[in-house]
Amino acid sequence: MYFGSVRFFKHLIYLLMIIVSLIALYGAWYIGGLLLSNFYVSAQSGTDSIDDSADNEMPENNDNNIIIQDSDLLNEAADIESEVSYQSLYPEMRSEIPIQFRQKPKTVYLTFDDGPSDRTLEILDILNKNNIKATFFIVSNNSNLDILKCIADEGHTIGIHSHSHKYNQIYDSVEAFLEDFNTCYNKIYETTSVKPQVFRFPGGSINAYNMGVYQDIISEMLRRGFIYYDWNMSMGDAGKSITKNKIIDNVKKGFANQESIIILCHDNQNKTSTVEALPEIIYFFQSQGYSFDKLDKSVEPLVFTYPY
Ligand code: ZN
Repeated sequence: MYFGSVRFFKHLIYLLMIIVSLIALYGAWYIGGLLLSNFYVSAQSGTDSIDDSADNEMPENNDNNIIIQDSDLLNEAADIESEVSYQSLYPEMRSEIPIQFRQKPKTVYLTFDDGPSDRTLEILDILNKNNIKATFFIVSNNSNLDILKCIADEGHTIGIHSHSHKYNQIYDSVEAFLEDFNTCYNKIYETTSVKPQVFRFPGGSINAYNMGVYQDIISEMLRRGFIYYDWNMSMGDAGKSITKNKIIDNVKKGFANQESIIILCHDNQNKTSTVEALPEIIYFFQSQGYSFDKLDKSVEPLVFTYPY
């Protein structure tokens, strides 16, 4: 008899074990499916959220970024604005930079700083007698500005040096330099109807007083079209008790067959020895085969090199 026999119960147990196993497999499959679907959904929803953020948030972020960038740019612009606000000062104070500079061979440019003075007419007389032109860098704070008309009428160049000629003051800032320059510019223009185009820095373009500002001043002045000239020879006449012979000696010692020579001289009430030395200096260079000319803004600038 099979039913109720030991074999029957064995088979029943096997069957139950198979059913339980199948149920367990199904359960595992079901739970696994649930887990997988959850994972997939969460992965999908993650992707969605990225997509969402791409669709919705990113544009906002982009906008924010743009806003931030814009505000950064605005801040930068504001900084630049504040840095270069002096560019809008004295809009009439401009010139034109020449397209091309020229360099004439064997040419001497006499340049007289600090005038006009009681010596100016004497200097003009010597220049006239020798039929040569020169350049006068003017200090407009001087009292006898009418002499500027004589300088202009005789065909010499009038350039700007300074109004106050006070180093501490004019090199205090770019604005301070521009204010001083503008005063000198206007006084020359009012007196002579000449708009100066060239200038010389008091103390030279690089000096102990302008180390913090000279680059900004130079770029601003060049932006406005003004050309400046330093020198490659000095009369050495700035000292108080310089003699005529010492000046001539200084010039001869500084001479090294340069193609272009810009000589620093001074037009000052006390500089009688400068006037006395002038005819001999002119003769010296002429005997060396040089001719004289005035600076104008087409003459190739001679400037001090900047320390690195
Ligand atoms: Zn000077």
